[in-house]
Amino acid sequence: MRLLLVEDDPMIGAGVQRGLRQDGYTVDWARDGAAAELALANGVYELILLDLGLPRKGGLELLSGLRRAGVTLPVLIITARDSVADRVKGLDAGADDYLVKPFDLDELSARVRALTRRKSGRATPLIEAGALSLDPAAHAVTLEGRPVALSKREFSLLHALMKQPGVPMSRARIEESLYGWDEEIESNAIEVHIHSLRRKLGASRIRNVRGVGYMVTDEP
Ligand code: CA
Repeated sequence: MRLLLVEDDPMIGAGVQRGLRQDGYTVDWARDGAAAELALANGVYELILLDLGLPRKGGLELLSGLRRAGVTLPVLIITARDSVADRVKGLDAGADDYLVKPFDLDELSARVRALTRRKSGRATPLIEAGALSLDPAAHAVTLEGRPVALSKREFSLLHALMKQPGVPMSRARIEESLYGWDEEIESNAIEVHIHSLRRKLGASRIRNVRGVGYMVTDEP
């Protein structure tokens, strides 16, 4: 899952990016409002973490512009402005949630999970496909009730596929979801992860739809 972090404070930005990466998210970091707009133009993100006090275009202005343009991505405001009036302004401009600095990274992670879950129309935290079950909060996967150990990338890949079982995801979309701006990607990386997932889960659970992409199937 790929997120856009918009933050001009180097310490906070680095901390948030590191923390969310540890949680398995792909995090691109834009340092000002204009850079954020450019990044958003390619549409690969599932959530925006938005600071309000930003150079080259403020967070509220950016957010209002996105909503006017019909962008429905969940937006979580992270800012030191903690007056009630500022919160109301942020929510009225189209934010989905609000976190006041300094905040706890675990709380940030939990809110990110809640917002992305809501966006995908699920109320419960577990994602299931047939006998496969994935818990985004615990980073745990079970197959027929038995735990399966996955690497961080394998987990992220399976998470992406399981959000829409039975719907193939192209290799390009998988790459976009798994790798950020500053990450090198080997040309066969996705195939390697798919191969490893098939070995751990059973080859039939992840199908290659020729010329289209990969999908998780409900049936064994
Ligand atoms: Ca700021």
